[in-house]
Amino acid sequence: MGRFNLKCLKCGREYGQEYRLTCENDNSLLRADYYEKTLELRNQPGIGRFHSWLPIQEELTTDAGPITYKSEALARELGLSNLYIGFSGYWPEKGAFVRTCSFKELEAYPTMQLLKETGGKAIVLASAGNTGRAFAHVSALTGTDVYIVVPDSGVSKLWLPEEPTESIHLIRMSPGNDYTDAINLAGRLAKLPGMVPEGGARNVARRDGMGTVMLDAAMTIGKIPDHYFQAVGSGTGGISAWEAALRLKEDGRYGRKLPKLQLAQNLPFVPMYNAWQERRREIIPELDMNDAKKRIEETYATVLTNRAPPYGVTGGLYDALVDTDGIMYAVTREEALEAKALFESLEGIDILSPSAVAAASLLKAVQAGKISRDETILLNIAGGGYSRLKEDFDLFQIPPVATARDPDVALEELNI
Ligand SMILES: *Cc1c(COP(=O)(O)O)cnc(C)c1O
Ligand SMILES: [Zn+2]
Repeated sequence: MGRFNLKCLKCGREYGQEYRLTCENDNSLLRADYYEKTLELRNQPGIGRFHSWLPIQEELTTDAGPITYKSEALARELGLSNLYIGFSGYWPEKGAFVRTCSFKELEAYPTMQLLKETGGKAIVLASAGNTGRAFAHVSALTGTDVYIVVPDSGVSKLWLPEEPTESIHLIRMSPGNDYTDAINLAGRLAKLPGMVPEGGARNVARRDGMGTVMLDAAMTIGKIPDHYFQAVGSGTGGISAWEAALRLKEDGRYGRKLPKLQLAQNLPFVPMYNAWQERRREIIPELDMNDAKKRIEETYATVLTNRAPPYGVTGGLYDALVDTDGIMYAVTREEALEAKALFESLEGIDILSPSAVAAASLLKAVQAGKISRDETILLNIAGGGYSRLKEDFDLFQIPPVATARDPDVALEELNI
């Protein structure tokens, strides 16, 4: 029994139910067309509630999932009457059990499940830290092999709330390589027999897993929010929120107005912000991110520094911004740190650096009059609760099994 049909957003070609990342005709993004057009919540404790719109057969039983609550203290401080926080992280007092502390875990469960259901054996991915941790965690829980390539700066972020298992293969890159170098090496590894690339934004299981943040918000609020705030590096979260809102719109019970995407990057690395200021579909490297590596090193939240984001591709972030009349922000380190302190003291939970950037963009939006007092706002705190987690769990560093000099290293040399 099929549950969805994969369709190309450009040429309309249909692929049915497979683990597939691109259209053979035109390399465009695919989207899952679910046979369930109304969202029927399942009786599961976490992300499995949203099974209607996840591209898998079996329901996910994990207690990890997005939560949404109405802000009081921060809302009062900002003079907003309908500010909702979407929180993906660890905060048991609020029912939040994402133990790797970011919404990457919401992508990892359905992706690993789809891999299993389509006969895949091992998945390969590049990570600046949070994605690797999420997939490693799900690998530890399910035993499915993952190969994770991280730049040196990301290795310390590769911890787990349980003992690492043999199924986790961590490949560290020497200093001087950045996240995009990790992507390039992972791309080569993924061509080896038996390996499947995780695919980033191209993977519908990742997008629809992340999209559950929007679904959960709509369930809590009773309608699609007017505005959606998130910090972006690849923009996948923004695309996912947009697609989830499109499905809610079609469902019909949550209103028919799409949320305005209000997305942030951190200075001095803001390629999508620069391109969007000029309403350009193409990111022009010389213009939008010259001296990229140096800029990336200077950013506060390095998780937000993808040099090849799915921005211009059909169905990518540019299309999402156009469709929702979106806004992008460029946030400084000082603004992010200030917003972090404010958020943490008022809301009572620690947040990760990219979420500080998201919170800073909300402050900027209020100051610039981009939202009005009574509108419904969803602030996606996509990562948090790391300090809270450490009160309850001992954390284990994942040991690298190999070190790669550069993205072109001979794969035999890695000996993995
Ligand atoms: C990955 C990540 C982001 C950026 O996500 P996109 O893929 O660009 O949407 C933002 N916040 C946190 C906590 C993240 O882990
Ligand atoms: Zn196509």
